[in-house]
Amino acid sequence: MKAVQISKPGGNFEIVERPTPEPGRGQVRIKVEACGICHSDALVKEGYWPGVQYPRVPGHEIAGRIDSVGADVAQWKPGQRVGVGWHGGHCFVCDPCRRGDFINCKFEKITAITFDGGYAEYVVVPAEAVALMPDDLPADEAAPLLCAGITVYNALRNSGARGGDLVAVQGIGGLGHLGIQYARQLGFRTVAIGRGGDKQALAKKLGAHEYLDTSAGDPAEALQKMGGAHVILATAPDSKAMSGLVNGLSAHGTLMVVGAGIESLTVTPIQLISGSKTIRGWASGTARDSQDTLEFSAFSGVRPMIERYPLEKAAEAYEQMISGRARFRVVLTMGS
Ligand SMILES: [Zn+2]
Ligand SMILES: [Zn+2]
Repeated sequence: MKAVQISKPGGNFEIVERPTPEPGRGQVRIKVEACGICHSDALVKEGYWPGVQYPRVPGHEIAGRIDSVGADVAQWKPGQRVGVGWHGGHCFVCDPCRRGDFINCKFEKITAITFDGGYAEYVVVPAEAVALMPDDLPADEAAPLLCAGITVYNALRNSGARGGDLVAVQGIGGLGHLGIQYARQLGFRTVAIGRGGDKQALAKKLGAHEYLDTSAGDPAEALQKMGGAHVILATAPDSKAMSGLVNGLSAHGTLMVVGAGIESLTVTPIQLISGSKTIRGWASGTARDSQDTLEFSAFSGVRPMIERYPLEKAAEAYEQMISGRARFRVVLTMGS
């Protein structure tokens, strides 16, 4: 099979021929139709994630079709359309697993970090990492929903916000352009927060009821004028901007952090005490959460905006993503 690998931290993308992998016990093989390129692929490309064994095939936004099933796999069969995201499996026996908290498994497998990912014609994954993909969702549009999509959808639906609540989405990028759509479709009064007046039309098209331009005024003040946000989904990895939004929360409001920045958030205890506010993070979800995301997207019409590249152009596609030029997600297609 054809695959694109990284053979050392900081190495280039190499197009290679490899033996097509065989699924072992408890595993399935997927013929990949599309694989999204995510900012987190830099963890493999640049070696930021400790313990990755090279060569490694990146890609944790995998959409395709099961073509072979290993021993002791009862729930999947060849021909099924499926997807795989960041959560690549769990042990079933550690304490978090015994409580059903698979995403916090002490021995969690991560797709394209623990085993090879989807920049390839075939991929072998643990059966518990697989999500069923609705027939009416094209593979190239489903792929980004398996990481970017599930992250914002699962964060929003677990945020405590109810229909009609004011929910703000900070950032209109790879995560945010999906977050706005989900917030609208989940029935929230949806406020998009971006920089510059030129993003207003897009925000409205994605479903935002209101748009706040951070270059035109303090978004926290504007949110307070609307009554305060029950939830603010912070998607742009700008810790300073996120910190500034805490004052836009209503009483009992939550700043839901999914944009993975490395700078510290700065907030005073008083800001949190006054109004009993919460800052919390959210980590994507399991394969069943992925399946929920795909199903909800299929019937509600939530779709990522994507740029497509053939597998052979992975290096160019990655550059388009990492440079921030992509509007908004980049997807490799396997030409089948
Ligand atoms: Zn990702
Ligand atoms: Zn476990």
